[in-house]
Amino acid sequence: MDKRDIKDFTLEEMKKAVVEIREPGYRAGQIFFWLYKKGVCDFQKMSNLPQAFMSRLEQDYYISALSLSGKLSSSDGTEKFLFNLGDGNFIETVLICARDRKTVCLSTQVGCKFGCVFCASGHGGFIRDLSPSEIINQILFLKDKLKHKITNYVFMGMGEPLNNCDNVLKAIMIMNSKPGMDIGARRITVSTCGVIPGIRRLTDLGLQINLSISLHAATDNLRDTLVPVNRRYPLKELIKASEHFIKKTGRILTLEYVLIKGKNDSLKDADGLEVIARRLKAKVNLIPCSPVPGLGFQPPSKKDIDIFMSRLVQGRIKVTRRESKGKDIQAACGQLAGRLKQTADCEI
Ligand code: SF4
Repeated sequence: MDKRDIKDFTLEEMKKAVVEIREPGYRAGQIFFWLYKKGVCDFQKMSNLPQAFMSRLEQDYYISALSLSGKLSSSDGTEKFLFNLGDGNFIETVLICARDRKTVCLSTQVGCKFGCVFCASGHGGFIRDLSPSEIINQILFLKDKLKHKITNYVFMGMGEPLNNCDNVLKAIMIMNSKPGMDIGARRITVSTCGVIPGIRRLTDLGLQINLSISLHAATDNLRDTLVPVNRRYPLKELIKASEHFIKKTGRILTLEYVLIKGKNDSLKDADGLEVIARRLKAKVNLIPCSPVPGLGFQPPSKKDIDIFMSRLVQGRIKVTRRESKGKDIQAACGQLAGRLKQTADCEI
C-alpha cells in the first residue's frame, strides 16, 4: 500500500484510521497536537506515542511540507511566496500586513477554470486542485518556518475555493480542529465567484466562517461577460443562496467589486450594487483592478472611484476601498506563477 499524506486527514478521519488499527481514538488528537501545535515533521519525535504506534504511522503515512522557490517583498510590507509542488506546478501564497493584522491569502487550485476576464489565474487555465495538505502547508510554512503570527486566513489566492470544495472544507476542518491548529472560524474567509452548490455546502458545515462574494457586476448581462460562471449560476440564485448562508450562520457577507474603467464603474452600476448590498445587508469592498499584462483592463481614475464610492455611501451602504497591496511584486492572484510559467529561467 502506498503511504498516504497524514495532513490530508481531518480529525474525525484520523480517529477512524487509528481505531481501525486498534489504537484508542484519542491518539488522533495527540497526532494533531504534534503536527499542528508543535510543527513536528518526524513521527519519531511524537514523544508521548508508544514506539510501536510511531513505527506503524511511519509505515503507513508520510508528513508533507512545501518547498519554497522564491519570495518577493513589497515596499508596503506585503510578501509573496512561491511554492514548488514538486510536479512542475507552482502556487502563490501572499502575506498581507496591515496595522495589527497579518492576513494570509491561500491558493486552492493550480490555475482556475472560471476565466473571470480581469484575472491572471483564470487567464492561464486550470491545471489541478490542491490537496488539503497543500492548502494547510501554506499556513504551516509561514507559521512554523518563518514564525509569522497570522491573524486572518482568506481563501482568495489562485483558484476558486468552492470548485475544490471537498479539499477546501477538509482544510477548514483541520484549521478549526481544537487539538490541532485551533483557528477560530470567524478568522477564516472563503471568497467565491458564485459557485452555488459550494455556498450551500459551506452553509451546511455549520461554522461561523466569513463568506465573500466576488460580484463585480450588478446585472446578469454584465456579469455574464466579466464573471462567466454567472451564466450557470445567475444573480437571482446567487442572492438566494447568500441569503440562506446569512440566515444560517448569522455572519455579515462581503461583496467584492473590482472596479474596471469603462466596464462596471458608472453610477448606474453603483445603484445596482446598492440594491443588492441592501438586500443582503452586505458590506461592499471596492477594489480598483490591477492591470495584468495582456488583458487590457485599467482601474478608473481616483476621481471616478471616489464618485462611485460616494454614491454607495449616500445609499447608506457600508463600503471600504481596498488598496491593492504589493503592486510592485505582482501580488494579484496568479500574476507571479503566470510570469514564472512564461519565463523559462526566471529568477526571483
Ligand atoms: S477571480 Fe477567482 S474565480 Fe475568477 S478566474 Fe480568478 S481565481 Fe478564478
